This record gives sequence, C-alpha cells and structure tokens, in this order.
Amino acid sequence: MPDLARSHAVVIGAGMAGLTAAQAISRHFAKVTIIERDVLPAEAAPRSGTPQAQHAHTLLAGGLKALQALFPGFENDLAEAGAVKARTGKDIRMERPGFDPFPTRDLGIDIFCMSRPLLEAVTRRRIQQTRNINICVRSRVTGLVPSRDAMRIEGVRYDSEDGPVTLEADLVVEASGRCGLTLKLFEELSLPMPEETEIGIDQAYASTIVERPLAHNAEWLGNIILPSAPASSRGAFLFPIEKQRWLLSIGGNHGDAPPGDRAGFMDFVRSLRTPTIYDAIRDARPVTDIVRYQLPCSTRRHFERLESFPAGLLAIGDALCRFNPVFGQGMSVAAQEAVILDRLLAEDVPMERLARDFFAAIQDTIATPWGVAVSDFVYPATRGVRPADLAQRLKYGVALTKLAAGDPEVHRLTVEVSQLLKPQAALREPALAARVMALM
Ligand SMILES: Cc1cc2nc3c(=O)[nH]c(=O)nc-3n(C[C@H](O)[C@H](O)[C@H](O)COP(=O)(O)OP(=O)(O)OC[C@H]3O[C@@H](n4cnc5c(N)ncnc54)[C@H](O)[C@@H]3O)c2cc1C
Repeated sequence: MPDLARSHAVVIGAGMAGLTAAQAISRHFAKVTIIERDVLPAEAAPRSGTPQAQHAHTLLAGGLKALQALFPGFENDLAEAGAVKARTGKDIRMERPGFDPFPTRDLGIDIFCMSRPLLEAVTRRRIQQTRNINICVRSRVTGLVPSRDAMRIEGVRYDSEDGPVTLEADLVVEASGRCGLTLKLFEELSLPMPEETEIGIDQAYASTIVERPLAHNAEWLGNIILPSAPASSRGAFLFPIEKQRWLLSIGGNHGDAPPGDRAGFMDFVRSLRTPTIYDAIRDARPVTDIVRYQLPCSTRRHFERLESFPAGLLAIGDALCRFNPVFGQGMSVAAQEAVILDRLLAEDVPMERLARDFFAAIQDTIATPWGVAVSDFVYPATRGVRPADLAQRLKYGVALTKLAAGDPEVHRLTVEVSQLLKPQAALREPALAARVMALM
C-alpha cells in the first residue's frame, strides 16, 4: 500500500544540501520538487544564489563517501567530468608552522578536486536522471504554509515567473543555506526560537583561477599554507581543478582581508608564511578576475534542543549549521546529513517524529566538524564562548600534530578525522591520549 503521508516533498534550494536531500527523499516519496530561485546552468558555471562557489571548495573524503552512497558511481562521474583525483597526504601538500612541509605520505585516501560549480553540475545531472525529482527554477519561496492548528507544515508559497503559487507538500525541507523561512515561520507562530551558538571569525576570502602550467612538475598537485596563529591568520589553498587549472583562495580573519585588485592580491600571496604558492603561480595566466567573500561567523542552530518542532518540516545543510569554510566541511556534512535522512525514512519514522529524530541523529555528524572550530579561539579577537579548557585543547592539538609528523599511523588517523571519515573522539582514545599527553 502506498504511504499517503509520503506522496510529495518539497526541497527549498538546489545547492549541495538541497540536491543531496532531494535524492535521499526520492527513495521514499512518490514525488519530490526542488524549488530554486536561480536559473541553473547546464554546465559548470557560477550563479548568483551561491556566491561562495567561486572560492576553493574541498570535497572531503567523508563527503565523497556520502555522495557515493546517494549516487552510486559518483566517483566515475566526477572523473569523467574532469575532476582531479588526488591522494591526501601526498598530492596535496600541507605547510604548517614547524613543518614546511608536513611529512608527505601515501595514506591511501583519495579525494577529488574540482570547482564547486563542477561538483554541483555533476550532482544536478544525477538528479535529472532521478525519475521522480522535478526542479522548478526561477522560483523564490516566500513562505511556509502551516496547518490551522500550526502543528504541521502543509506546503510552501513561492513566486514563479507566472506569479505566486501555493504548493502542497507532506514534507518541506529548507536547504536555502540561511534558514530564513523556518525562522520567519517560528516568529509568525510565536514558537520558541532555537538557541544559536556563534563563533565570530570575521573571515575574508579572495580567490582567482589560473592556468596550471603543464611544466609544473613539482611533486604535488596542490598546496595548503596554514597561518602562524595567533600572530597572523593569513593562509592559502591552491587546489588543482578541471581544465588543467588551479583555484587559489587566500584569506585572513578579523580585518586582515585580502585585496580585490590583482597587484594587491599578489602582494598578499607574497606575504604568506612560505613562498611556495607565490613561486608556483606568479607567472601563471589568470583565467578569472579576483572575487571576494566575507563571513562574519560560524553558526549552529540548536533545533535538537526544542521541545517541539512543526511536523512535516526539516532544515538541512548551512540552514542548520554553517562552518568556518577554511576547514572545508559544509558540503560534506550536508551530504552526510542527507544519508542520515535516507536511513530514517527507510526506517519508516512517522512524519510527526521525523524532525525530532533527524535533529537528534545528526548531532554526532555535526560534533566533529564543529569541534574543529574551537581552534578559531586561538585568535584573541574571536567572539564567542571559549571552552574552559581551551589552552589544554590547543596544546593537545600541537602535541598531536608533532606525534603525527613522526608516526604514519597517527598521521593517518588525524587525516581520517579531518576528512570526516572518523569522529573526533578517535583522537582521544586512551592509548593515543597517553602518548599525546607525554609530549605535552
Ligand atoms: C568562502 C567559502 C568557502 C567554502 N569552502 C568550502 C569547502 O572547501 N568545502 C565545503 O564543503 N564547504 C565549503 N564552504 C561551505 C559551503 O559553501 C556550504 O556549506 C554549502 O554550500 C552548503 O550548501 P547549502 O546547500 O546548504 O547552501 P547553499 O549552497 O547556500 O545553497 C542554497 C540554495 O538555496 C537557494 N535559495 C535560497 N533561498 C531560496 C528561496 N527563498 N527560494 C528558492 N531558493 C532559494 C540558493 O539560490 C541556493 O541555490 C565554503 C563556504 C564559503 C563561504
């Protein structure tokens, strides 16, 4: 018998969270409609709804695994589309204070490097092959439609090219990157607002794409320069992307913003802790202008702490939790959340309980990437509630890094955690913790 409570789902937003959520839901609902305010390009191209997409976007190994679970064969799709396969620890070199570079090792973990527009285009192509998903473009959702008793959401209102539309749905997922619609509804219905945790980093990025010289025969494909915190927050990512190019993102926190003109941009690159990236790109031909982006804070919305939440509504991706982009986690966490949603729907969790179970189930997934954000408090100007044991945690991190430099097994474990393949708790296992403490 078809489940009548699962005939139609609406997903708001066709970013990485919306696309992956739609795929997960399509396995359990008769029909899924994604509503997106932008026109979606057929190929990999920037669009106004995701301005951050022109900056370096790492897909972590944990995110790749989640995408592979949602779209079997996804790795092949990426490779065919021109994404660059790279081994973490070996092909992407890491320069960090005290280790320039960090020991290079083949840890056996592959990732794919590409521009964010290419990743979205490949994911969209897979969505278009899913029979029961439909994407409505140039349509901006303006509100959620509650039931008379305000206990559930029954649909959305949106502005289409032909005028305002009301669309009924059994499940609405806000994947708008902002959560504005859910929070507006809470305000209108006078529901208790979710608590928010913020870590104020005032981060500024500037990025450009350059041709990757064929003659570049260094032993690495990409290079990361970590800052000498807390004295300076300046860092850089140089990643190989499709079409034999490099995408370079540079940035700083708390007012140390890279300039948007090329001469100023190059001066900033030259001022980085090591000359590796400057030397690699100074003669490379630019393919794009310099683009900039500012992010005031990381934000986590604690829907899991609310006593009740309207049935038939969920928030996912950045709408729920927005991470400091330098750790490259947002898209991967969104895909992992979609995998959890898939599991809950497969378990036939009733619609009345879905939000509660979903928000509870994803907390472990969010805990590791959010735990990494604590290192932002190394800067005195970072705003937010500092953990009482901050100094101890920072020292632990430094000692763990030292240990990882000398021990391939520990190195592999730290990479598995930072790639979201293992939880952060793995770095506190008693035997390892004892070795780290001894170094501290
Ligand atoms: C500078 C920068 C660098 C980053 N680097 C990385 C990285 O290396 N790795 C990583 O994993 N993450 C990175 N991130 C984070 C990543 O961009 C986000 O986590 C990810 O895009 C989350 O996707 P989302 O789908 O939740 O939101 P978004 O990507 O913001 O997508 C939201 C979508 O909703 C649409 N929309 C919004 N409102 C409406 C509406 N009312 N009606 C209809 N449609 C609507 C938008 O047009 C958009 O398509 C970075 C972020 C920044 C700012």
